[in-house]
Amino acid sequence: MSKKGGFFSLLIFGFIIFCSLFLFSSLIFPKGASENQVLTGLQGMQKNQNNAEKPGVKTDAKANVKNNAETMLEKEPTSTPPGSLPAPEKNNIPEEERTPTSPQQENSTTWDEAMFEKLSFLQMPLPGASITTRDSQLPGAPRAYRHGVHEGLDFYADYCGIQVNYGDPVFAAGPGVICRIDHHYQEPSVEERTAMLQNCMEAGATPENILDKLRGRQVWIAHSFGTSTRYAHLSAVANHLQEGDPVRAGDFLGNVGNSGTSEGARGEKTNPHLHFEVWLENNFLGEGLTPQEVRSLWRSLLEE
Ligand SMILES: [Zn+2]
Repeated sequence: MSKKGGFFSLLIFGFIIFCSLFLFSSLIFPKGASENQVLTGLQGMQKNQNNAEKPGVKTDAKANVKNNAETMLEKEPTSTPPGSLPAPEKNNIPEEERTPTSPQQENSTTWDEAMFEKLSFLQMPLPGASITTRDSQLPGAPRAYRHGVHEGLDFYADYCGIQVNYGDPVFAAGPGVICRIDHHYQEPSVEERTAMLQNCMEAGATPENILDKLRGRQVWIAHSFGTSTRYAHLSAVANHLQEGDPVRAGDFLGNVGNSGTSEGARGEKTNPHLHFEVWLENNFLGEGLTPQEVRSLWRSLLEE
């Protein structure tokens, strides 16, 4: 009997200890429900900025960026078709503006650290330039005239901290291999350009072959980890470079121009600018983000 009673009281004593330990631990380590939240869909990606420091959500962010890329590349919406993210409406969210010049890079991007690492080699293709102050010159900006989306960053005089003149040299943003260089570029005529834009209107999007022509004379570089950069609207390309040639960061690639634009088609030299694209696999840098997020991401990669 006493043996049985002793065992029983030991069991109760153990149970009390277990309960108090459990209570104690939950007081010390409170577990927020948000930590386990899985962010899905495009809205989740927008919100993800707040969760950037939590390692658990980073893979989801990556998947969302990818999903978003696929839908955007397929449809290239300008208005808001059903099921797509009403991106322009997000512009008035002032949340990102509240993250001032913080030394923590993580706060300035919703792209995960792995992506950030892969692109850490980037430097300015125009020395001394800064990221444009105009949203319409950022990647992701709508391009109504061709029913599409801007996939690169524009460097225009007055908006990027330096003068950008027709003929200014353009330099490699990182080490890599030339995978395209347009030595035999032919500028479309005004009529051809008009026909291309008519085509875009009928398609309600910018077909890839037309988009390519609208980028004008180009140089593309393949970098490591599936990243690449494109330099567009050039007036000339480096004579000594061919496809397959290795380049170092800062190597001369070509000259600023306006090829592929309406001014270029008219044979004018006005409105020169560099259109610069950064790709990570099939996503352009900043794809799916708000203009504020795109700007911080590009700044942290190219200005810091
Ligand atoms: Zn552009």
